[in-house]
Amino acid sequence: MEITDWKNLGFGYLKADYNVRTWHRNGQWGPLEVSDSEHITLPIAATSFHYGQEAFEGLKAFRGQDGKIRVFRMDENAKRMQRSAQGVMMAEVPTSLFTEAIKKVVKLNESLVPPFDSGASLYIRPMLIGAGAQIGVKPADEYLFAVIVMPVGPYFKEGFKPTDLVIYREYDRAAPLGTGKIKVGGNYAASMVAGQRAHQNGFSAVLYLDAREKKYIDECGPANFFAIKGNSYVTPKSESILPSITNMSLRQLASDMGMKVEDRQIPVEELADFDEVGACGTAAVISPIKRIYDADNDLEYNYGTEPGKVCVALYEKLRGIQYGLEPDPYGWTTIIE
Ligand SMILES: *Cc1c(COP(=O)(O)O)cnc(C)c1O
Repeated sequence: MEITDWKNLGFGYLKADYNVRTWHRNGQWGPLEVSDSEHITLPIAATSFHYGQEAFEGLKAFRGQDGKIRVFRMDENAKRMQRSAQGVMMAEVPTSLFTEAIKKVVKLNESLVPPFDSGASLYIRPMLIGAGAQIGVKPADEYLFAVIVMPVGPYFKEGFKPTDLVIYREYDRAAPLGTGKIKVGGNYAASMVAGQRAHQNGFSAVLYLDAREKKYIDECGPANFFAIKGNSYVTPKSESILPSITNMSLRQLASDMGMKVEDRQIPVEELADFDEVGACGTAAVISPIKRIYDADNDLEYNYGTEPGKVCVALYEKLRGIQYGLEPDPYGWTTIIE
């Protein structure tokens, strides 16, 4: 594949030149295979198809001004995929195999890592799926771990644009003691109806409340929630949200900037007291939020149409580390040689 128009890439599937895969059979992982096919062959009764036995990850590689390619915090994605594997009883991918697969697939597709000045990046999507046939509800006896990549455009084409969220109490993304804290496809299937309704009504995502009491803020569909209140970075503590690696990084940067980090339950009424609100995740780093509409009570919370100064400072700091423009004191990036 040859891309010339880097500036007009969106966030969509593109078939890359290569992907890597490995199979877990008879209790062990086989060799890492390189493929140029976008297809896989699986038994029709594979557990991933019938019972949702699968997990995925999402991370990015960035080309710096110095021409070097950096991957952000891939060891954290490896650990998270191990927790997901435990949560749906799959074979775990050791961190060494996970990072080897990522380095290999990025290197093989080096020509697809967008140039520095495009603002685009290479999205990396690891997946782990039950690949053995089973019709009774039990774990598969074989697993496939594969990693695909594709170039994706800058999330904010016209710069950092605040969007709107909506609260609908009639939907839950995940149960309080369910699979919300692991990155499995089933959580995404479960969120499509609410997500579609939000999009049709002009919102970028649903802001979910805790499923047990509908009192506290959980997260925004595929991104974590955070807010700025005075000198505090506030983010929800909940058993049913996915621990975002972006959020973990922003908490560290906020603390380094002299802010207080509060990881606690956030009552929905507290939305009225925040100075800035954002959603965070690999795709956008930070999506500033300008308005949250509580559809059940016809109430709205407004945060201004321009991104807040703390959101901008955090965004620039994190992007700076990812592109190698700022020092990386915690060793978050890995240079692909
Ligand atoms: C992947 C994901 C996020 C964001 O996590 P990052 O590691 O920051 O990309 C947030 N919420 C959910 C539900 C997710 O699946």
